[in-house]
Amino acid sequence: MGLFSRDKPKIKVQTTKKDGFSGWLKCIHCSELIHANELENHQNCCPKCDYHYRLSVNARIQSLCDEDSFHPLFNSLQPVDALNFIDTEAYLSRLAAAKEKSESNEAVVVGTGFLNQLEIALAVLDFSFMGGSMGSVVGERLTLLIELALEKKLPLVIVSTSGGARMQESILSLMQMAKTSAALAKLHEAKVPYISILTNPTTGGVTASFASLGDVIIAEPNALICFAGPRVIEQTIGQQLPPGAQKSEFLLEHGMIDCIVKRQELKQKIADIIDFLTSAN
Ligand SMILES: [Zn+2]
Repeated sequence: MGLFSRDKPKIKVQTTKKDGFSGWLKCIHCSELIHANELENHQNCCPKCDYHYRLSVNARIQSLCDEDSFHPLFNSLQPVDALNFIDTEAYLSRLAAAKEKSESNEAVVVGTGFLNQLEIALAVLDFSFMGGSMGSVVGERLTLLIELALEKKLPLVIVSTSGGARMQESILSLMQMAKTSAALAKLHEAKVPYISILTNPTTGGVTASFASLGDVIIAEPNALICFAGPRVIEQTIGQQLPPGAQKSEFLLEHGMIDCIVKRQELKQKIADIIDFLTSAN
């Protein structure tokens, strides 16, 4: 259901008709007019300035997997409200709203697929589902996928985008950091490669756990990657952060990630890295 539908690009719409969508959009980065079709043909990157807009889970899977090769797994594991949690709204009604909005049932899709004819285990986080936050089911699906990768010796690729741990699940969500990390440690011992892809934005408990544990950590250009966001840090320490802090380019300069790869080149780059890591064995 809706697995291969594309999200509308989240950018300013320039309409020529009073009531309709003309297909022309104004890039928020370079202000040039671009057409929605052109944007889609460039995997949601601006054809003029290459600004990387958010990519839906299904478009991401299509961009990385060979045609029709992705097989979703553990989709029947569904989130529950174990704590009876209510903040300004009940967690259950937030979940229902997220399901409706994202046409998905959790903030991660996991499964197996083929990348340049090589079978991989793949997980893609979904920012449109409660900000890609990691609740128990996100952690459990990831852990089950990591265990499958270990059992079948499949290279693991996780594409992250997340607001962090899901506060509505409190400690149950924080536990997922330890659980996913422990599963990845076993994968590492077995020398099965794990490539972590960080996309805009990757923050909080996701950055502080599995997303930072890749054998190779790749970021998309200009992505916000951090634990606490810039505003929170500035309020806490009472100082301004240097320009560009917490962006991919800054992190690369400071040795926190291994490389920055444009979306159009990502599939080939992952294939090359897996080839390099596995043939070195
Ligand atoms: Zn642009």
